[in-house]
Amino acid sequence: MLPEFTYVRPGSLSEALEHARSEGAVLHAGGTDLLGCLRDGVFSAGKVVAIGDLEELRRISPTRDGGLRIGALATLAEVAAHPLILEHYTALAQGAASAASPQLRNQGTLGGNLCQRPRCWYFRGDFQCLRKGGPMCYAIVGENQYHCIFGGDPCYIVHPSDTAPALVALDARARLASPSGTRLVPLESFFILPSEDVRRETLLQPGELLTEVLLSPPAAGQRSIYRKVRARGAWDFALAGVAVALSGADDRVEAARVVLSGVAPIPWRAVDAEEALNRSRLDAETISRAATASVAGARPMTRNGYKVELVRGLTEETLHTLAAQ
Ligand SMILES: Cc1cc2nc3c(=O)[nH]c(=O)nc-3n(C[C@H](O)[C@H](O)[C@H](O)COP(=O)(O)OP(=O)(O)OC[C@H]3O[C@@H](n4cnc5c(N)ncnc54)[C@H](O)[C@@H]3O)c2cc1C
Repeated sequence: MLPEFTYVRPGSLSEALEHARSEGAVLHAGGTDLLGCLRDGVFSAGKVVAIGDLEELRRISPTRDGGLRIGALATLAEVAAHPLILEHYTALAQGAASAASPQLRNQGTLGGNLCQRPRCWYFRGDFQCLRKGGPMCYAIVGENQYHCIFGGDPCYIVHPSDTAPALVALDARARLASPSGTRLVPLESFFILPSEDVRRETLLQPGELLTEVLLSPPAAGQRSIYRKVRARGAWDFALAGVAVALSGADDRVEAARVVLSGVAPIPWRAVDAEEALNRSRLDAETISRAATASVAGARPMTRNGYKVELVRGLTEETLHTLAAQ
């Protein structure tokens, strides 16, 4: 059962920000993640601030410099089907299309997808784990087959979003709003590691709202892709995924971004793989070197060693797919 809370539905951004700053306030966009968390007692809310009426946060529109602005309330279905996203930012369309089920993509928003809480079964279950203020991360000695192989310590969650790795690969920025103004941050630094703060996943301050995501104009020869592997054919979170964005002419890579999902508490940049791709021909030898480099520094836990070979193989396959396009 849902606990008791006050419910408000502001009609403007400034009104929403006023409500959001009050003690115990939480934001409700599509509610597909939030309501489950409240029902299961993962965290509580004094006030639910439903932002679904803020039409200005729903738009997807080109920017004057040739980039794209995506409002935080654009649904995953809208992002997946938008012609400019499909054409110029393919990895993002693929990430949005591969998240959850059709019903959830119609209801769930991009902002909610980026700010959703981790799916770790200890965090979501009846465990007073580190992330809930408890003494330890139970995954260390427990069932850790779905946990991270990069960037854990002291908490071994994996970041759940399929749009975030694509957006980090595309070097997107996020606009954050609070009553004192707005700030623009690279999406890469929007997500924070447990070693920085084990109680939150983003640098959002209490009462701050993600209003939009900005994409730069596509670089010359830019192409991108997102692929994920899940435990079953139907909707599911990624066991591992990889987003790749490349720029350059013909089969020569000028600059590459390789970002892994399902294997770290944040979308994880495989910088050694990027280095193997930069200023190289995208041939079988380069691809093999980049795939091996994508798992450099992996530290599997007792039950998730399979993720190392999964990431290596997935990266190799994904780069071959991109090379053949
Ligand atoms: C069964 C199931 C399967 C799923 N599978 C996948 C999957 O495979 N891949 C994947 O990526 N996701 C998956 N999801 C997650 C789903 O995609 C997200 O729940 C959805 O995108 C969240 O959007 P929402 O608008 O419903 O967010 P909400 O539930 O409204 O909010 C989620 C969180 O973000 C905060 N929030 C929302 N909007 C903002 C904002 N603008 N600024 C600041 N904070 C905000 C809320 O306070 C809340 O904590 C799944 C969810 C379910 C229930």
